[in-house]
Amino acid sequence: MKIIIAGAGAMGSRFGLMLHQANNEVILIDGWQDHIDAINNNGLQANFDGEMVTESLEIYHQDDVSSIDFNADLVILFTKAMQLDSMMQSIQNMVGKNTKVLCLLNGIGHEDVIKNYVPLSNILLGNTMWTAGIEAPGKVKLFGNGSIDLQNLGADGQEAAEEVVAVLSEAKLNAKYSANILSSIYRKGCVNGTMNGLCTILDSNMADFGETDAADQIVEQIVSEFAAVAAMENADINVPEVLAQIKSCYNRETIGLHHPSMYQDLIINNRLTEIDYINGAIARKGKEYGIPTPYCSFLTKLVHAKEQVLAAV
Ligand code: NAD
Repeated sequence: MKIIIAGAGAMGSRFGLMLHQANNEVILIDGWQDHIDAINNNGLQANFDGEMVTESLEIYHQDDVSSIDFNADLVILFTKAMQLDSMMQSIQNMVGKNTKVLCLLNGIGHEDVIKNYVPLSNILLGNTMWTAGIEAPGKVKLFGNGSIDLQNLGADGQEAAEEVVAVLSEAKLNAKYSANILSSIYRKGCVNGTMNGLCTILDSNMADFGETDAADQIVEQIVSEFAAVAAMENADINVPEVLAQIKSCYNRETIGLHHPSMYQDLIINNRLTEIDYINGAIARKGKEYGIPTPYCSFLTKLVHAKEQVLAAV
């Protein structure tokens, strides 16, 4: 398959590398010049489960794609949420009338942006449990296993979605078709919508937060706001199950000592966060549906204030 990875940071590099290794024709598009230069000069270098791997992959700056002749079957979106619109603008001429566009970003409501550039019938939404990290421009760390759930957004797109599932699975990315992707997206949103913002504001790992007196009440309130908004979109959140999943993040023996990705973005790397597309999306949609979302609204404001205090970029 001819595949564009639009947003080739940590996750885009993982997907690009694995799809390339499975003999797909892959090009990467990104906006970070140092990363592009490093990949052009030295290849994409990965610490892949402890083995050092270098692959030669084509990569272009998103401002420089007008002359590329590449009739893509599939575009996989892996920008940060706040970069999505500008990436869609950059690549719009590369998205043909049969090109499928798969969004795997964390967060809620990205289809509202993508719909401005791609017909509904070509949009696929997904959710992934793979992880990845950037070590330096051109160098990524890819550890562990993961999976992908995806579904077509338009009514007639299941066959195309199944084809994409097959290509991803052939590349060992463990994809499966989902009959209700919105529910998985909202469920993952609950985990991100609690652990990410709260640990970032409190400057704590997940275990330390989980052991505070207020943890249960705060988490239950945030999850209830997500569930109320999800119900308006026919997405189903099993609240006790989601709360149990969140509590499993507090376990010191497994992942409790870990700082969530938003903490790493803002506190470690001084980068802006995706809060507007997690808790902020619930606050926006809550307003639209007449549902009060006081905790999601407040947490969104607090994270933005912290971004400003730290002069994040
Ligand atoms: P990323 O930050 O690694 O990459 C996103 C974009 O930011 C890329 O264009 C990248 O080149 C650019 N970028 C990265 N570091 C930069 C720097 N120092 N200076 C300038 N530009 C820089 O993001 P990601 O982790 O690949 O995440 C992409 C999407 O996938 C997000 O929505 C994220 O929430 C989601 N996601 C991430 C993971 C994970 O483990 N990383 C897991 C699941 C979902």
